[in-house]
Amino acid sequence: MMSLTLAAAMSASAAVAAWYLGPMLPRRLEERRLRQLCRETRSLVLTYDDGPGAELTPRLLDLLETRGVRATFFLAGNCADEHPQIVDEIAAGGHEIACHTQDHLNAWRSWPWRGITDIDAGYQTLAQWVEKDGLFRPPHGKMTLATWAAVRRRRAPIGWWTIVAGDVEDEMPDPDLALEQARRLGGGVVLLHDFDREPERADFVLTSTTNLLDAAQQEGWTIRTLGELMCYGMKDAA
Ligand SMILES: [Zn+2]
Repeated sequence: MMSLTLAAAMSASAAVAAWYLGPMLPRRLEERRLRQLCRETRSLVLTYDDGPGAELTPRLLDLLETRGVRATFFLAGNCADEHPQIVDEIAAGGHEIACHTQDHLNAWRSWPWRGITDIDAGYQTLAQWVEKDGLFRPPHGKMTLATWAAVRRRRAPIGWWTIVAGDVEDEMPDPDLALEQARRLGGGVVLLHDFDREPERADFVLTSTTNLLDAAQQEGWTIRTLGELMCYGMKDAA
């Protein structure tokens, strides 16, 4: 017979696993749905996280305007606090604005309540641009059962991605890698970042965006915001 100590240890480790990995299953399912939606609707979605950046975001907005397309910006509340006029410009460009918390805390490395208050504070800061149940993306892609439940409680959809461009990696990959992936998958939801860093990273973001938009034109993909793509799926299912 299993000893009580062993049983307790096993249930404790099961609880720990559920805490960190529980939100992973719905994530995997949603990523699969997004890949499928992109392929079926021939869509490319450009998403930019962690901004706005005083230097990069305006350059990016110019580029997107020249190309006549709209993207999705997952803003960090603390950056929005610093540059509210850039957030207004993003909104004026018709882009989708979404919540990426206030202080960009990694939920796996924060106390549960801090993870939750960071989400709430982000929505509060972004209130004039993002609805209470507006699209959310967790920093570092990390959620615990507590932050996942908090987002569910607000009925906010979670905006995952299907292609990582790699602009935050220590060694940036070839910018064509995301492009090749998009071609192989027949579209996708691309993760990029628009906070200010070294000039070569800003160039990488702008070049990747240009190349992806060129490819979209050649392949006949429609550029959609993430909210549009996700709604498309809902309407389709209804
Ligand atoms: Zn982020």
